[in-house]
Amino acid sequence: MADGNSRAIRGRLLSFSRAPRGAGDAQSYRYIEDGIILVEDGRIEAVGPADELVARVPPMLPVERHADALIMPGFIDPHIHYPQTQVIASYGAQLLEWLEKYTFAEEQKFSDPEHAARHAEFFLDELARNGTTTAVAYCSAHPVSAEALFTAAHRRNMGMIAGNTIMDRNGPPGLVKAAHNAIPASRDLIRRWHGSGRQRYAVTPRFAITSTDEQLKAAGALLEEFPTVLMQTHLAENRSEIATVKRLFPVDPSYTAVYARCGLLGPRSLLGHCIHLDDAEVAMLRDTQSVAVFCPTSNLFIGSGLFNYGRLAAAGVRIALATDVGGGTSYSMLRTAAEAYKVMQLQGQNLPALVAFDLMTRGNAAALGLDSEIGTIAPGAFADIVVLDARATRATAHRMEVARDLEEELFVLMTLGDDRAIRQAFIAGRPALDPAKPRVSRDRLPPG
Ligand SMILES: [Zn+2]
Repeated sequence: MADGNSRAIRGRLLSFSRAPRGAGDAQSYRYIEDGIILVEDGRIEAVGPADELVARVPPMLPVERHADALIMPGFIDPHIHYPQTQVIASYGAQLLEWLEKYTFAEEQKFSDPEHAARHAEFFLDELARNGTTTAVAYCSAHPVSAEALFTAAHRRNMGMIAGNTIMDRNGPPGLVKAAHNAIPASRDLIRRWHGSGRQRYAVTPRFAITSTDEQLKAAGALLEEFPTVLMQTHLAENRSEIATVKRLFPVDPSYTAVYARCGLLGPRSLLGHCIHLDDAEVAMLRDTQSVAVFCPTSNLFIGSGLFNYGRLAAAGVRIALATDVGGGTSYSMLRTAAEAYKVMQLQGQNLPALVAFDLMTRGNAAALGLDSEIGTIAPGAFADIVVLDARATRATAHRMEVARDLEEELFVLMTLGDDRAIRQAFIAGRPALDPAKPRVSRDRLPPG
């Protein structure tokens, strides 16, 4: 039993069982002050109070103790671009110019399998450093980029959902040419990777502007052909984008209607941004059970607008929360929740810490239809676990001196926390961070 991914983890355990109805909803989660998670072969075998479970821990099994930390399911990031790790922090442009000027140039480098492999390793390391144990990732338009990411994630037994970006117009020749074969290439990747170990596929048209009507319909047909594959794209992020979609698809009544007509909406569909929607579009998302993905750091950074969480939630639209790196400015779901809070404050809304932490874990897992497998600390789920330290920095330790309860600790974590608050992340039971290793490698920093 005691191979590399069997162990016991002991400390304060927190896991959500349903979406909290607001601050103070103690029925939405299970909190165990001194609990044990028993991990066998990468999955959670048992969980419960230490005094009940301690007798079940085999004598030779390593026990990790984190009495002062908070142990939660690993975070899930349902919208991120792995070829944009060197696009993040690009100055001075809004969406369409930002794509042309920075993103398209950078993504073309992913035609090189070595470049893709190096970036895939960086990307997965960076997710783990931030406590993110599953992500839904856009790859570049080159099938080798998806291949590199799946290969790296599979080797780590890390559950990734990813897809080759589909586009056949309005991009640089390098990307459009690479993607002209995008539908057969996606089908090949689905056959190779969807359901291989923990890997899953998402059909990935970048957005309506960069695909012809034929290609969007072909993407919709792929979803029909593979009924468990997911779909990711962007929707109604920016006003010029919407005007361009109107020009390219003059007959459709709205941007959302383009995707609906092409068969791209449904319970497996993740739509990044959803900022500027009319009521008919919101109703379409609700009726198709599509997921609106809130990407606050990106929406603020690219200047796209404010996601109206209250409006979409009241309408019954499913909502997820994501980083959208490299339009987004942090890999950290904690930083992302902090910015979500501010975006909501600007609209007279609140984001209780319970709701934010539920979203980052169980909520995002449910958006992917994977909530029995990830985003929870429960028997049978993968042991994807994060250990959070609310006293990791001088300022947070100082603030925590007066924190009265769990919800306040969570709010401190999401408002002030970042990668420094991540003491450890377990991926299928294996520790992903080496505490002995310095957090920042200095060997490639410029002199001085
Ligand atoms: Zn995006």
